[in-house]
Amino acid sequence: MSNGLGEVVEAAKKAEIAERLSDKPLCDHCLGRLFGKVSTGLDNPSRGRAIRESLGLELGEKCWLCEGLFDEIEKFSDMIEEELENIEYDSFLVGSKIDPEIESREENLWVELDLHNFEITKAEMNREIGKILEPRTGKVVEFKRPDVVALMNTAFDDVELTINPIFVYGRYKKFVRDVPQTTWSCRSCWGVGCEKCDNTGKEYQHSVKDLIGEPFLVETDSEDYSFHGAGREDVDVKMLGRGRPFVLELSRPKKRTIDLEKMQKEVNRSEAIEVTDLKPSSRKEVAELKTARYFKSYKAIVELDQPVPEQKLKEVVSSFKGEEIAQQTPARVAKRRADKVRKRTIQDIEATLLDDGTAEICIKAEAGTYIKELVNGDEGRTKPSLAEMLGVGCRVRFLDVMDIHDEDGEDG
Ligand SMILES: [Zn+2]
Ligand SMILES: [Zn+2]
Repeated sequence: MSNGLGEVVEAAKKAEIAERLSDKPLCDHCLGRLFGKVSTGLDNPSRGRAIRESLGLELGEKCWLCEGLFDEIEKFSDMIEEELENIEYDSFLVGSKIDPEIESREENLWVELDLHNFEITKAEMNREIGKILEPRTGKVVEFKRPDVVALMNTAFDDVELTINPIFVYGRYKKFVRDVPQTTWSCRSCWGVGCEKCDNTGKEYQHSVKDLIGEPFLVETDSEDYSFHGAGREDVDVKMLGRGRPFVLELSRPKKRTIDLEKMQKEVNRSEAIEVTDLKPSSRKEVAELKTARYFKSYKAIVELDQPVPEQKLKEVVSSFKGEEIAQQTPARVAKRRADKVRKRTIQDIEATLLDDGTAEICIKAEAGTYIKELVNGDEGRTKPSLAEMLGVGCRVRFLDVMDIHDEDGEDG
């Protein structure tokens, strides 16, 4: 005998299969599986047949262990194939939930026969269905990151598909001051719908999230989507320059091939935002985006309570350059965030007087710097602040994010 069948038969003899299984007839699948890891490069029915023929075992009416489960492989394959026909995918993985009674009989048998090189029912079932479906569907079995996992419940003849999400990376610009990054519930009804929000339940009609997400949801026939931004700007802050990196995650998409050029045009029909640099992404990139600490450039239009000579303004502003400021969580976000003091570096800062009461200030600062508070001091919570150093009350009238330095790091 070749292909390691000799070893399999030896192992079966050693386990005294003929005597111990005399009242428990097994099918070739189940018999072979008991020695599934004794030799490789064979399927279980070949192992089982060799054992049965060598030891002169009877093939019973019905397998004591699986009760004919393996005769149903074709049926299970058909069921999964039918489910998969409704979606687009390139790779798949079969999983199965086996009747617990079969699993417990199997486990008891391993103990009783003192076996250690067995294969479990589930593993054979998954592999065999996969082998049938690969040529039929023209798709491949993939263990690490399959597009879809088909879970077969053999006790209830039920298939459940887990369709893995797709991810799209891009950068967005925002040209208006009344669109938040994500949806806000209406402040009057908290999302229920009322007169004030036109029964939308939303404080703002649109968000960056849904202006980008909705067209993709429709295009991919997904069930839902999540928006992951590399930080966020306040609702009244424009996002300019090269835009802010984001990853859109589409859940349970029925369609996975996306014409990104077409989608870019579609999203950019909105006058509020613009997306660029669209490309396929991954969950890993979401994690990277969430932990990235990019420097950002801002332009602030600042109102001064009293006129300040330009020379003084420039001197005071330049004293911040390269310095660290301490910011206690601003009063305006204290409800949502932990109250703590954090240090942020102002890498670059320049000021120009526009008129007696207005200055334009360009700032390049570390991720998470509260720019409005850097200017107005937030009643002493940010130290030092422009207001404190000038000795003149001042506040941000308009703020724009001019760029996010994700490529050139701190020196860009
Ligand atoms: Zn069986
Ligand atoms: Zn409302």
